[in-house]
Amino acid sequence: MPADKDKLDLGILSADIGDFANISGLAHPDLINRRHAHMGGAPLMYSDPIWIQRGEGVWVYDEAGRRYLDCYNNVPCVGHCNPRVVDALSRQSSQLNINSRYLHNLIVEYAEELTASFPQGLDHCFFVCTGSEANDLAVRMARAVTGANGVVVMSHAYHGATTLAYELSTMFSGTEGGPDHVAQVEPPDLFRGSYRAGEAEVGKKYAAFVDGAIQSLEERGQGCAAFLCDPLFDSQGGLEAPADYLQQVYQRVRKAGGLCIADEVQGGFARTGILWSFERYGVVPDIVTLGKPMGNGHPLAAVVTTRDIAERFSSSAFYGNTFAGNPVSAAVGKAVLEEIHSRDLVTHAARTGEYLRQRLVWLQSRHELIGNIRGFGLYQGVELVSDRGSLQPAKEQARAVPEAMKERGVLIGLTGRHNNVLKIRPPLVFDKDNVDELIAALDEVLTTTTVG
Ligand code: PMP
Repeated sequence: MPADKDKLDLGILSADIGDFANISGLAHPDLINRRHAHMGGAPLMYSDPIWIQRGEGVWVYDEAGRRYLDCYNNVPCVGHCNPRVVDALSRQSSQLNINSRYLHNLIVEYAEELTASFPQGLDHCFFVCTGSEANDLAVRMARAVTGANGVVVMSHAYHGATTLAYELSTMFSGTEGGPDHVAQVEPPDLFRGSYRAGEAEVGKKYAAFVDGAIQSLEERGQGCAAFLCDPLFDSQGGLEAPADYLQQVYQRVRKAGGLCIADEVQGGFARTGILWSFERYGVVPDIVTLGKPMGNGHPLAAVVTTRDIAERFSSSAFYGNTFAGNPVSAAVGKAVLEEIHSRDLVTHAARTGEYLRQRLVWLQSRHELIGNIRGFGLYQGVELVSDRGSLQPAKEQARAVPEAMKERGVLIGLTGRHNNVLKIRPPLVFDKDNVDELIAALDEVLTTTTVG
């Protein structure tokens, strides 16, 4: 199997028919065969893929009416088929949907409401349709403003699927590979990285890697246009960086003339118990990219930046996007923001996340396999190791856990360089009873998963 496929979001299953041990033994062989005959793209999840037909809140239902607790999907952040969002979408689609090059009040209102939730100065937004496009555009802006070409990114990063965003997705190029304009730095992994929890000045030590990356870009004649980082470190296994890490990095990048881009495609919209995940680290980026939960499933994403950067970019380059920021998308985006604010999902995610964390710590005291738990709010990573001393990644066991959880009606994922981190990232409306159900299933599964 090519490395790329194994590493996608949830590397449980390849799209190739040959990877299924016995297709006729699966629940939906015909649908899988037809999909394989006519569809490319991301691999299916699970060795026996589920056919989901309906969703409501934190629940999804398969074709047989079987219910699954969704502890994985961050896109339906305000709940599957959220009534306010569905209503806004259907009302606006029955009235008008049109290119954003015509004036429309909803688009303007949404841009005002969205940018009002950012620190002062980040008051301009460009609408796009996907997180990939947002990162692509953000880097184009940084290049236009700085005149440099190089970008510093984390190793094992994922930033998207356009040509540029894919080049910046170092999870596919390995630590040594990649084009000349990309320089990688070691992620601040306090569990298994070069510097560990408890050591002095870990933030500074990890940030110092950025000096080397900038120097290497200079030597290659690229210069430093930007530092692009997901403050949640999702593809690195969801890390808790040292508190001063991003401040230290941003100082170094700005001194070299680069702009700082926060990729909030995963961490944005209350996921971590605060609205934007960069806020936790006491920094204000020059550019922020948004996506995934922004439209609760509707393809809606954005780049947020300052008026100065927006104007300098627009004076030297064209950016247009037929579908982005249309009135239907704007109505949906507004409804998502209204749900987040009116139900105070920021506080809810912080409180439920705290309870989830406590219950995971309890599980860790019962299961040797759990080496580390980290994350914020409703994003928690549970790293499995076969030996707590050597930190040997328990890859096989990790692969088995989401499969066994699915059999018990609970959906979770996997992430990290070794694909050994259980990823728990439910819709924001997840509550304490849902946490209890998830923990009970995980306790049962880990009890039957042997350390080998
Ligand atoms: N950045 C991050 C951090 C992501 O997780 C993703 C999607 N997994 C993207 C960018 C790309 O977003 P999209 O799939 O909407 O293009």
